Amino acid sequence: MRLTELVAWFGLRNVSRGLVLAQFAELQRQVPLLYALLAVNAVAVAYTHHGLAPFWSTVLVPGALVLASVIRLFVWVARRGRTIEAKDARKQLGMTVTLAAVLAAGYVAWALNLNQFGGPYEHAHVAIFIAITVIGCILCLANLPQAAVIVTVIVTVPYLAVYLSMGETVFVAVGLNILLVTGVMLQVVFNNFAGFKQLILSKGETERLSRENLRMAHTDPLTNLPNRRQFFNELERRIEQAADAGAVLSVGLIDLDRFKPINDTYGHVVGDRLLEAIGERLSSAAGADMTVARLGGDEFAFLAGVDALEAKAIAMRICAMIEEPFEMGSLSVTIGASCGIAAYPDAGQGAHELYDRADYVLYTSKASNRGGVTIYSADHETRIQSDRAVEATMRTIDLDAEMSVVFQPILDGASDRIVSVEALGRWASPVLGDVRPDVFVTVAERAGLIHDLTLVLFRKALSVATTLPQDIKLSFNLSAHDVTNSGTILALVTLVRKADIDPSRLIFELTETAVIRDFKAAEAAIQLLRSLGAEVALDDFGTGYSSLSHLHRLPIDRVKIDRSFMSDYASPSGRNLLQSIRVLCSAMELKCTAEGVECAEQVAVLKELGYRYFQGYYFARPMPADALKALVAGEGSVAAGSAA
Ligand code: C2E
Ligand code: CA
Ligand code: CA
Repeated sequence: MRLTELVAWFGLRNVSRGLVLAQFAELQRQVPLLYALLAVNAVAVAYTHHGLAPFWSTVLVPGALVLASVIRLFVWVARRGRTIEAKDARKQLGMTVTLAAVLAAGYVAWALNLNQFGGPYEHAHVAIFIAITVIGCILCLANLPQAAVIVTVIVTVPYLAVYLSMGETVFVAVGLNILLVTGVMLQVVFNNFAGFKQLILSKGETERLSRENLRMAHTDPLTNLPNRRQFFNELERRIEQAADAGAVLSVGLIDLDRFKPINDTYGHVVGDRLLEAIGERLSSAAGADMTVARLGGDEFAFLAGVDALEAKAIAMRICAMIEEPFEMGSLSVTIGASCGIAAYPDAGQGAHELYDRADYVLYTSKASNRGGVTIYSADHETRIQSDRAVEATMRTIDLDAEMSVVFQPILDGASDRIVSVEALGRWASPVLGDVRPDVFVTVAERAGLIHDLTLVLFRKALSVATTLPQDIKLSFNLSAHDVTNSGTILALVTLVRKADIDPSRLIFELTETAVIRDFKAAEAAIQLLRSLGAEVALDDFGTGYSSLSHLHRLPIDRVKIDRSFMSDYASPSGRNLLQSIRVLCSAMELKCTAEGVECAEQVAVLKELGYRYFQGYYFARPMPADALKALVAGEGSVAAGSAA
């Protein structure tokens, strides 16, 4: 060990915080014993020398030494149970080393001075005093080896000098004996201290690891934002706070639009980087009183101590931020976000209740206005209630008995003949009355009943289609969930195979939303259905986001133009739009059906713009199988306006 290292060692430098605190805690128990030992032993030696040595050396000096020891004893005892900072502990340890040196010097000088007085018994007592006390000190200072070493050196050197110089064999032997024992004791102290140090360091490491584990259990590794678990902890905590303070609190759930297609198109690496970048934008948008979290996938959330309207303003800011393009290397990606907001206490009192409501309106935002923000309101409450009633009823009924299918013809404008019929689900519930298909389909999707429902409706539709003339096709609607569920698609394929029908007479209609949700799964489903010989149509074209890029990439056969485009048929811009869509479809060799045709003028305009296939109340409303068969058998063609 070099001198500088030795100085550093005595100065307790390079000792970790945890070790200093642990040493201090150990010493707190042992140092008072040390001082008690010193005081009692000193009193004993002073007592045996009383009268033999001068007053100052049997009363005054030991009195001062004992007083100093007792004061230190009380200082240490008084500190017990108090917490101490590492830097103060380090200071105290340093002081202990210094004081140990000073007191050891004082005691040994005093004891060796006493050695001149008295006879062999008194000399023996001094020897025992020195030996026992130094060993006791070493033991008590075992967790501060610096002090133990200093005490040993300061005591050993002078008494060895004195004993050796006395020339008495017994004292020389005693001196060497003490030297041997203290040497061994010091070695034991060093060994034990090494073990102690190791233990403290590994404990520190264990604590650090468990803190790290805790942090990881509460953090999303990709964005470093709080994760779902932490979000709920925080939500619960803030609800309690808000309840105590009578304050408001809003939960905002944010779901990315078009994340899936981006992830599918550019791969997961780009997807992950996009999520990271979104996490950064969200963090930068968060005020001091706001928590933002990633709940999983492309779902994020925020908590803010504001009312619903302020939360809406925050959410709109966030959505706008997310809509700014992301530059990733040479790639520029644009993405959107929808948000649902539920405010405490109006929308709910519990964490899960608030979350569910925010989720409900998020779903509404996504379904109706993309990129929008919806606040949970009393209206939604009513809807939830009725959705719950629908769901509860739906779970108990025999789908086969209560669900039925009606058919709406689709005409070829060139011949006015029915070329296909669209099957539309109907539910006449004895309990709830007629339930609209968009309502029960959505509820079935959420309740996990859509697979069964779709198969029941398809079976019924198929059984009617097999009785229709061969040149009439059957159009059947698939929900977004059906498209992404390979089990449902395979079950449909099995039903087609078993039915006595040419698969080329089947058209499966799926919406853009279904395609956007999971492009890869949708593509696989489409390919499977087409490989069977069936056609696939993109339904409600123009209402979703997708658009042309999807049209281009999807292996589809037809497009159904949403009826919202029909209302504007009279204005030049409305016409232009209808015309461009039709031109585009022709360019892509896609058959194109105009939905929701309600009057003769519309038909005239659409025909002029080149449309050929029509569906709408103007031609025929959805009708039960019998009515359809009668219609088909009656004339084989439907005169325009006859069924309107
Ligand atoms: P959709 O697939 O776009 O079906 C066409 C809807 O437009 C039908 O409503 C039909 O009655 C209505 N319609 C037809 N012509 C006209 C018209 O001239 N004017 C107006 N205003 N409406 C017209 P419906 O039967 O209420 O169905 C609503 C939606 O529910 C459907 O929209 C479809 O998305 C869904 N749906 C219906 N049946 C099923 C089904 O069996 N399975 C699935 N997954 N969804 C279904
Ligand atoms: Ca449809
Ligand atoms: Ca449609």
